[in-house]
Amino acid sequence: MSLFPIIGAVQNYAWGKFGSSSAVAQFAHDNDPSVVIDESQPYAELWMGTHPKAPAVLSQDKAKKLSDVISSDPVKYLGKSVVEKFHSKTELPFLFKVLSINKVLSIQAHPDKSLGAQLHADDPQHYPDSNHKPEMAVALTDFEAFCGFKPLDEIDQLLQKIPEFKEIVGSDLAAKFHESAAERKSLLRSVFAAVMTTPEESISNYAAKLVERTHKQPELFGPVLADLIQRLNVQFPGDVGLFCGCLMLNHCNLKSGEAMFLQAKEPHAYISGDIMECMAASDNVIRAGFTPKFKDVKILVSSLTYSTDPVEDQKQKPAAFPRGSGDAEFALYDPPIDEFSVLQIKFKKAGSASIKGIHGPSIVIVTGGSGEISIQGQKGLKASTGGIFFVGAETEVALKTEGEFTLYRAFCEAE
Ligand SMILES: [Zn+2]
Repeated sequence: MSLFPIIGAVQNYAWGKFGSSSAVAQFAHDNDPSVVIDESQPYAELWMGTHPKAPAVLSQDKAKKLSDVISSDPVKYLGKSVVEKFHSKTELPFLFKVLSINKVLSIQAHPDKSLGAQLHADDPQHYPDSNHKPEMAVALTDFEAFCGFKPLDEIDQLLQKIPEFKEIVGSDLAAKFHESAAERKSLLRSVFAAVMTTPEESISNYAAKLVERTHKQPELFGPVLADLIQRLNVQFPGDVGLFCGCLMLNHCNLKSGEAMFLQAKEPHAYISGDIMECMAASDNVIRAGFTPKFKDVKILVSSLTYSTDPVEDQKQKPAAFPRGSGDAEFALYDPPIDEFSVLQIKFKKAGSASIKGIHGPSIVIVTGGSGEISIQGQKGLKASTGGIFFVGAETEVALKTEGEFTLYRAFCEAE
């Protein structure tokens, strides 16, 4: 049995979309009709993996976890090279998720491998493992996020135009930032540190004035930024994120099918929309704003890269996938890390397709339409929106449909 349906685990975090407006709720219900959607509840995340906090289970036997099946024959399900590389006989190297975002998530960054190891050794309470946590988001619906610092010129203009921003940073530093274009990159760290170390009461006083200014002088901000500050202030009144996020980070919009890979040590936050997310198995988060949780300002300020790449450069461009053939369109999102890649498979009309065996484990979810998924020697399985399947290593998969059919497949290959 190298192909079988599974059921993911729903997380009702407060920032999720409510009831049936949430893709998470819709998918969870469609995949398992025993899930009744409560319209008064937020449905934030659907986890599809082996994470012990919220493991996927088998559709045919909900008492059995996906990790139980994997551990019965790790080499068969994960593939020899993945077992050897990730030293795991039960768990997937990645966690695949659907996210439905109604409210901004915390502004955060993640360590790379060496910083992850150091943080875990120094402060295991706040950094529960020693791993890095690369993340990739692929938009299902219109999606907005913060990713990386804005271009230096833009930050300079905001610093000169917005009195509250300038006062927090200090007029000396603001003047230096403005005058010495050559030193701006190194001064960016000082500007960010000044914002992050201003006491909370002052931040909330400045924030009140900032929000007032977006109403009185919206032209200083431009229409997108004024609206964003007002919206996020409703969600997190007086928060430092209005400054370190709205005024300092790129605001990016992704259309369905566009992806963003979040490099280590780059500040980011999801703001709204439905996405597929894939990440390495880790919980290491360094938070900066829009959160009631612990903010490790010292580590944050010292570890960020302060690169100011344009939004377009942060996008993960899809590549061809020659191992897929037939009537479907294939788009491969393959970030520069070992733990995962994500493949989008899209039929615009009736047809069939096949995908050669992948040298590692996969999780497949249907995000639109319906069809059939099959492997050799096994009866085909009906696959409709919300359906989730595990595919073992080296297993060739066939798909067919009578109409539109869209699937996302996360997988790991060690070589
Ligand atoms: Zn993150």
